[in-house]
Amino acid sequence: MTHETLDTAAGHLPAEALEAIERAATAAHRHETLFSERAANIKQSAVRDVFDISLRPGLVSLAGGSPYLQSLPLDRLGQTAAAIIAEEGLTALQYGGGQGTEELRTQICEVMAAEGILDADPANVVITAGSQSAQDVATKVFCNPGDVILVEDPTYVGALNTFEAYQVQVEPVPMDGDGIVPELLEAKIATLQAEGKAIKFLYTIPSFNNPSGITLSAERRQRTVDICREANILILEDNPYGLLRFDGEPLTPLRAGNPDDVIYMGSFSKIFAPGLRIGWALVPAHLQRRYYLAAEAVTLCPPTLNQMLVSAYLRDYDWRDQIVTYRGLYKERCDAMLAALAEFMPEGLSWTNPEGGFFIWVTLPEGVDSYPLLRTAIDAGVIFIPGAAFSPSDEPSNKLRLAFSAVPPESIREGVRRLAPVLREAIAA
Ligand code: PMP
Repeated sequence: MTHETLDTAAGHLPAEALEAIERAATAAHRHETLFSERAANIKQSAVRDVFDISLRPGLVSLAGGSPYLQSLPLDRLGQTAAAIIAEEGLTALQYGGGQGTEELRTQICEVMAAEGILDADPANVVITAGSQSAQDVATKVFCNPGDVILVEDPTYVGALNTFEAYQVQVEPVPMDGDGIVPELLEAKIATLQAEGKAIKFLYTIPSFNNPSGITLSAERRQRTVDICREANILILEDNPYGLLRFDGEPLTPLRAGNPDDVIYMGSFSKIFAPGLRIGWALVPAHLQRRYYLAAEAVTLCPPTLNQMLVSAYLRDYDWRDQIVTYRGLYKERCDAMLAALAEFMPEGLSWTNPEGGFFIWVTLPEGVDSYPLLRTAIDAGVIFIPGAAFSPSDEPSNKLRLAFSAVPPESIREGVRRLAPVLREAIAA
């Protein structure tokens, strides 16, 4: 690229800026050949894509599944954070152990006990930078390029991005209203193993799947583990929403009675604060060392100050009451969305009725691709995430994800009211 062409294109830019652009372009060209094959598979998630748009004033965002932090005791948390630094700053601001602090790992075992995992040993807990990083470590430890990971169809877009970055073959397993269908899981495993594929794990979000809101029924839980154990496939259980069940007791995680076959991942992102980036993996004892070493190689240690703040929160605050508050709050929002969908949506659509979590999954008539509708929806003042984002294939999808977690009930109603004519028109076209 020459100065002349830049001058024509950029007109008034000062000479230093032009030089910087030219340098960057030349370096980009030189370095293009250095990228790993893996880097070609790293994509921006569709959720991050719409994140900036979601900040536009006046727009109702039913896209991002952010938790509603306004109900946290922020002033008191500020005092706690300040006290940790003032009184224990030399520890809080220092490197810590690679596995995370013993205090927090012990407390995490109590959090898991609230869901029915009663035998967790703090020695087998590895604290990670959010459960996103726990997924990454699991993939790094178990998967070679070309290996297979089974996922629910649909599944969490962030996990798809992680898996694809490791060049694995991601194979979706169909779900019905009760989660993964065991017979279809068996059939999929048989076909892939007959082809000589190495299936490393089944990644599942059994409670309130992101994006569909579907929950794996109690009856199917042990069957799913048994099928995988029989085929020598690990289970990667991702359970950030499990405690956010609207009514009744949480369903027992797959890990509960199966300590040797399930890597369980939890997170404080939905029950406390995602910005602290504190999640964890509970790893079978015989896999713990490899897993822990891989985690340590990425971050040296999880953030010490944040771990201490989470520990103080679990020790000195009534975190169980806060979860009860969250459950009531999200139930109210989910109900508001279900009521608005029933009131405004045209004939021919259906949607899930989640028992907890953050999301509702809407199905449009066959053949209607939800992706191009996002543009029209933005013009109408509302955003959602098109269904194709949650599938490993690039096929068009007639589904879309609506999040009710971050928006108050009146705005949810308004957002659904704005979306309805966009969908009506698409169906009529
Ligand atoms: N798993 C699922 C199913 C999620 O929905 C999310 C966050 N949206 C994550 C993992 C990542 O959570 P964390 O903030 O703990 O990394």
